[in-house]
Amino acid sequence: MPLTLGGAVSQTDLGYLLHKNPSRIHSFEMPFGMARVFQIDAPANQSAVALLLDVDPVELVRGRGEKSSSSFSLRQYVNDRPYAATSFLSVALARVFGTAMSGRSKERQELADSPREFSAAIVAAPCRGGVDFAKRLFEPLGYHVEAERHPLDEQFPEWGEGPYYTLRLSGRLRLRELLAHLYVLIPVLDAEKHYWVGESEVEKLLRKGEGWLAKHPEKDAIAHRYLARQYSLARVALSRLEDDGAEPLDELSQPNTESGIERPLKLWEQRIESVLSMLKSLNAVTILDLGCGEGKLIKALMPDRAFQSILGMDVSSRALERAADRLRLDQLATSQRERVRLIQGSLLYRDKRLEGFDAATVIEVIEHLDTARLAAFERVVFEQARPRHVIITTPNIEYNVCFETLPPGVFRHDDHRFEWTRDEFRSWAEGVARRYGYSSRLLAVGLEDPVVGPPTQMGVFTS
Ligand code: SAH
Repeated sequence: MPLTLGGAVSQTDLGYLLHKNPSRIHSFEMPFGMARVFQIDAPANQSAVALLLDVDPVELVRGRGEKSSSSFSLRQYVNDRPYAATSFLSVALARVFGTAMSGRSKERQELADSPREFSAAIVAAPCRGGVDFAKRLFEPLGYHVEAERHPLDEQFPEWGEGPYYTLRLSGRLRLRELLAHLYVLIPVLDAEKHYWVGESEVEKLLRKGEGWLAKHPEKDAIAHRYLARQYSLARVALSRLEDDGAEPLDELSQPNTESGIERPLKLWEQRIESVLSMLKSLNAVTILDLGCGEGKLIKALMPDRAFQSILGMDVSSRALERAADRLRLDQLATSQRERVRLIQGSLLYRDKRLEGFDAATVIEVIEHLDTARLAAFERVVFEQARPRHVIITTPNIEYNVCFETLPPGVFRHDDHRFEWTRDEFRSWAEGVARRYGYSSRLLAVGLEDPVVGPPTQMGVFTS
């Protein structure tokens, strides 16, 4: 799956802009195969390079490590990933042309800063949504778009046309803009990301989309598809795009491009990531983790100094002991001891210690409470503790059919007293919000199934 980049600049200049000596073949080892960059022929007064990816399908599956044999499926081996221009290509672009994408050029900064005629050809782009969609993505950014559809099989034209196109884009812009557009929009064309999409992807999207995404007419579709239909993340991204005063992203906190690759996260990790990104987007700095269990969320919050005070509460002393171990609370510096505390208590009784926090999180806890006690829980949290924001996650029972090993009619955990459908959760959340003067939003956590929805549902309440 090649990508070619060309421009009305000399081969030497293109080499400087891309930070690649044009006379060499450059090879990069990627977690999923090899990426190679080399010079190709171009019309007079122009120059071009190709980026070629060799994706190793077996390595792809091996990299997944944790897959159990029961989840083996032929689809893992037989898929279009090795051939199609997909998010692999984006990852390779960022790796291979990272400096060019940042717009820095040691020798040709002026050239890097000035718009020129550039073009790109994406070969075997799987345009889900058709050519029209591809045009709606690229034309508002000033490109002329040509698309050529590939037959399903070159040798058997009678089989008809396949889902792949060669897209040729040309326009007058800066090279770094072209690279950022390709980085974001190639996976959008494909709409099937090869690695789990976490909070860090929101940052990447916002960073690479800086200067153009906020005013793009298709920004909703781009955010949803780039974030692989994780609506909760897409909403976070969109709300931050709309926030004019958004602070610049801190380079140091940027995850490196390779880190998320090929490590499918477990559901609990996805939950923690979603809650963490929500807390960040709410600008909450004092956090109450109710039913903190063994401290998974607290562990994720601790390294981020923006969280000034973290109080974990649980009814179980055993869970709290494990949390203290896991968080190594006894080894913390004195200043940190004040910052992170664990207390024993019950969510069913009023507790003064819970008052005055920016946000409370209640992750996978309410389903452990008897329905008859939910009213007491509501008063403790929403009336008495009354944090500015409350984030609650709970299973979506509709999704249980997707767990191969879970027999019908059985809850996900022995101690669950109930599991709710999306409608049940919504009506409870709306009722709580109405009774206690909060607004409520419902979000999805984990990849959504088109019919039964996401594995976990999340309610975000704000007073
Ligand atoms: N939030 C954690 C733990 C979820 S398990 C996580 O996401 O990993 C549910 C937790 O709720 C258990 O640790 C259990 O001890 C706690 N819990 C159950 N009933 C409670 C109550 N009435 N008050 C406080 N915690 C409770």
